[in-house]
Amino acid sequence: MKFYSTRNKNHLVSFKEAIFQGISPEGGLYNPAEMPNLSNLFNSMDEKTSFIDSSAMLASEILKDDLSADRVKSICEKAFPFSPEITKAGDNLFILELYHGPSCAFKDFGAFFLAAAMEELLAGDDRKAIILTATSGDTGSAVAQAFHNKKNIDVVILYPSGRVSPLQEKQLTTLGGNVTALEVKGSFDDCQKMVKEAFLCKELSKFPLTSANSINLGRLIPQSFYYVYAVNQLKRKYDNLVFTVPSGNFGNLTAGILAAKWGLPVKNFVAATNANKEVPEYLESGIFSPRPSLQTYSNAMDVGNPSNFERLKDIFNDDYKKMGEVIIGEWVTDDETIEAVKNFYAIKGSFIDPHTAVGYVASKRYIKKSGCFSTICSSKRNTAIITLSTAHPGKFLEVVEQATGIKQILPPRLEKILALKKESVLIDNTTDALKDYLQKKFS
Ligand SMILES: *Cc1c(COP(=O)(O)O)cnc(C)c1O
Repeated sequence: MKFYSTRNKNHLVSFKEAIFQGISPEGGLYNPAEMPNLSNLFNSMDEKTSFIDSSAMLASEILKDDLSADRVKSICEKAFPFSPEITKAGDNLFILELYHGPSCAFKDFGAFFLAAAMEELLAGDDRKAIILTATSGDTGSAVAQAFHNKKNIDVVILYPSGRVSPLQEKQLTTLGGNVTALEVKGSFDDCQKMVKEAFLCKELSKFPLTSANSINLGRLIPQSFYYVYAVNQLKRKYDNLVFTVPSGNFGNLTAGILAAKWGLPVKNFVAATNANKEVPEYLESGIFSPRPSLQTYSNAMDVGNPSNFERLKDIFNDDYKKMGEVIIGEWVTDDETIEAVKNFYAIKGSFIDPHTAVGYVASKRYIKKSGCFSTICSSKRNTAIITLSTAHPGKFLEVVEQATGIKQILPPRLEKILALKKESVLIDNTTDALKDYLQKKFS
């Protein structure tokens, strides 16, 4: 399969080119140039197919022009020593836990696959890569851990000072080695803009810069794998499957949409946001008005101008009504988020993090609105709603404690990190500051 840029459909590239470029030369994002029907492949999987196997089956189909099935399988095995887990949260309501990887957030799936794929594709080349990435919290920790000590790869991470949780900050500032954390005096949108501009900057073109943000195709593709896994687990028991995706930059949701376009049987996607509700508004009105981001409890979703929106619009040919047939937008307030963390604990006796809580509220609204669970609907067990749980609740101790009054015990892999010493480089929120830093470090 080849990939085209959202800003120039005649510009076709291979998977390898797409992942090392990150963003296309005109500033566009790469999307698949074809939408093959893979229904037969999906039908050949069932609830016994392991996550690695279903992922490798799908990936070797999508990446067959670049990599043999054996190499794809080996990338999947290296990338995924962890797996998604499905738990039941009520009638027709499921949680797809995506936080069992090293950084305790779903971004591990994308970051670890990308790192393994880059290492595989660089082997036997004397090329190097510099990963430049902006984070609103969880990207940085997943990317830092995925690329830590990878050969021929340096990592520079930009994060907004004071706007990530204390634990997230430790996760990205304590690895050292080939990983540098730049603490930016500004917002996540500033960080994202600086990275975007750095990629387009002529003076920096001598460096092998590449991005590991959710705009990188190599992160996007693997994020489709757990939708496939979840469908395999539930398709025999339910006729209709709906995924609710807590969204910020909309990479996670876009990956699910791609899987559905390839023939994965999904009835609807619910795009759940916090008060940064630009996409739910677009789905209602057809008008997209990006704004500066608002700070909320679900901080990894505090995005006012989602980077994958361009990709999503491209997939639906700019037709918001077509998009609205598949994606339902819901936005959730901070109060509702806290209430949901509290209620979930009261009912289930376990914790969800504030991002998952946004999704959980949206899922419950979907149930109410769709009416498919009322007596009018013929079969109550017809539809399953699967809320993607994007982070371990332990990553958001303070908010969860505020909601439930209970202090969680951290998983050991997080506890360990808290004791380490933060090392970051403080910089201004301008592209010039970033340029200077990169010139000095890599010249
Ligand atoms: C990044 C992140 C999101 C948002 O994912 P997108 O792909 O950017 O929409 C949601 N929840 C958590 C915990 C995250 O880290």
